[in-house]
Amino acid sequence: MAGAPGVQLIPSPEEVMQILQRTGAFREGHFVYPNGKHTAHYFQMPLAFRYYDTARVLAVALSRKFRIDRDIASQLPKVSIISPSSGGIPVAFGVRDALNAEQIYWAEKEEGKRMFRQYVNQGEINPCIIVDDIIRSGHAIQETVELVRSLGAPIIGCGAIVRFTSAPDQIAGVPIKSLAEFDEKYYDTAAACVECFAGAAEEHVRF
Ligand SMILES: [Zn+2]
Repeated sequence: MAGAPGVQLIPSPEEVMQILQRTGAFREGHFVYPNGKHTAHYFQMPLAFRYYDTARVLAVALSRKFRIDRDIASQLPKVSIISPSSGGIPVAFGVRDALNAEQIYWAEKEEGKRMFRQYVNQGEINPCIIVDDIIRSGHAIQETVELVRSLGAPIIGCGAIVRFTSAPDQIAGVPIKSLAEFDEKYYDTAAACVECFAGAAEEHVRF
């Protein structure tokens, strides 16, 4: 990718996966999660966002998917970019910058409940675009939709760098945009795991 013109393009899903692999954000191997599930793939998306250049390429690409949506474009800059969790914060800042949106909010889990910081009040939040680094099940997005709606803000967009194909492809009536989709397969037990059967060394990983 050569200079500024490259930033104008939306990289293909293959190029996005190459970026994730190169930065260590996507790994292939034999992984065991704390819940005992086995898998041949592991995503650790913040590893791609530790580099300014890759963070910018990914965030700008995602922002372009929103900007080409006429309904979203017509509401800029009076828009909020919302992250469901800490992993989505660098995505939210990058997308906000590229769209010149007015606000950013991010939710945090407190006592098992997803919430915004105190003193974020009804009516203060602009129409929302929810962004995350990766959508695995869609639960975090769903909880964030409910949180945003409880504060009276409409949801006009939703997206992530990667969406697992097992997650919903739309939420709150808006399609979920992504730069790459991934068909993740989990094995519930070691006995069911192809990698275990092949005798591959396992790595224990966190969510
Ligand atoms: Zn295994």
